[in-house]
Amino acid sequence: MLKGKTALITGSTSGIGLAVARALAAQGANVTINGFGDKAAIEKERSAIEKEFGVRALYSGANMTKPTEIAAMVRDTEQTFGRLDVLVNNAGIQHVSPIEEFPIEKWQEIIAINLSAAFHTIRAAIPGMKTRRWGRIINTASAHSLVASPFKCAYVSAKHGLAGLTKTVALEVATFGITANCISPGYVWTPLVERQIPDTMKARGLTAEQVKRDVLLAAQPTKEFVTVDEVAALAVYLCSDAATSITGANLSIDGGWTAA
Ligand code: NAD
Repeated sequence: MLKGKTALITGSTSGIGLAVARALAAQGANVTINGFGDKAAIEKERSAIEKEFGVRALYSGANMTKPTEIAAMVRDTEQTFGRLDVLVNNAGIQHVSPIEEFPIEKWQEIIAINLSAAFHTIRAAIPGMKTRRWGRIINTASAHSLVASPFKCAYVSAKHGLAGLTKTVALEVATFGITANCISPGYVWTPLVERQIPDTMKARGLTAEQVKRDVLLAAQPTKEFVTVDEVAALAVYLCSDAATSITGANLSIDGGWTAA
C-alpha cells in the first residue's frame, strides 16, 4: 500500500513508535526512525526493518528538544528518499509529580518533546507534501489529550496542545490531499508506562501492583493494556485511501477510558 512512499516516525527506537515504523515498512514504505538508546540495539532494529520488509531505513539521532536538529532530520529524509509522505509525531516523555514540586526543566522538556517538536516537523514537512498533493500526518496524542489525571500537568497540557495543533493543521491543508489526525491511546504497555510506576508509587504511596491495577487500569474499562500493534494498525489505516476523508480527528484507542 505504501510502496514508493517515505515515512518518518519520531521516537521510534522503542514502544509504539517502533511498532508503527515496522508496520509502515511492512506496507512498503521507506522509513526514517528516530530516538535514543543503545547504538547497537538501534542498528539491529534498523537493519532488521530493511531485511524483513525489503525497504530502506535511515536512522536519525535528532533530539526532539532541538529545532535545528529536527529540521535537519526532515531535510535528510527528503534528500535520502526524495520525499516525505507520512509523518508520525510520536516521541514523548512523561514525568509524574504534584504541580508545586514539578521541576521547571521537566515542564520545559515535556512541552518541547511532546508538543513543540510536532510543530517543527510539520512546519518542515508540509511544503513537500503540498507539492505532491498527498500527505499523512499522524500525531500520537493520548487519552490525556481529552481528559486529565492528577500529577501529570506538563504531559496533559502538551497532549491537549497537540490535539489543538492537529486540528489547526488539518484545516490549513485540507484541500491539498493531506490529512492530520491524532491517535489517542489509553495505557499501552511500553517502557514509558513501566518507567512511571516508581514515581506514581511515591506520589500516591502505593505498591507497583496497586499502581497497575488501581491507577493505570482503573481508568481503562477493559482492564487490559492496549497493545503497540493495535496502535500501529490504526496508523496504517489512516495512511490508506479509505481514510482520505478522516482529518482533524482525535481517534481514541483506550479500552473505553474516555467513554466514562
Ligand atoms: P517509549 O518510552 O517506549 O518511547 C519513546 C520514544 O521517544 C523512544 O524512542 C525514545 O528514545 C524517544 N524519545 C524520548 N525523548 C526523545 C528526544 N528528546 N528526542 C528524540 N526521541 C526521543 O514510549 P511509548 O509508550 O512508546 O510512547 C510513545 C508515544 O505514545 C509518546 O508520545 C507517549 O506520550 C504516547 N502514549 C503512550 C501511552 C502508553 O501508555 N505507553 C499512552 C498514550 C500515549
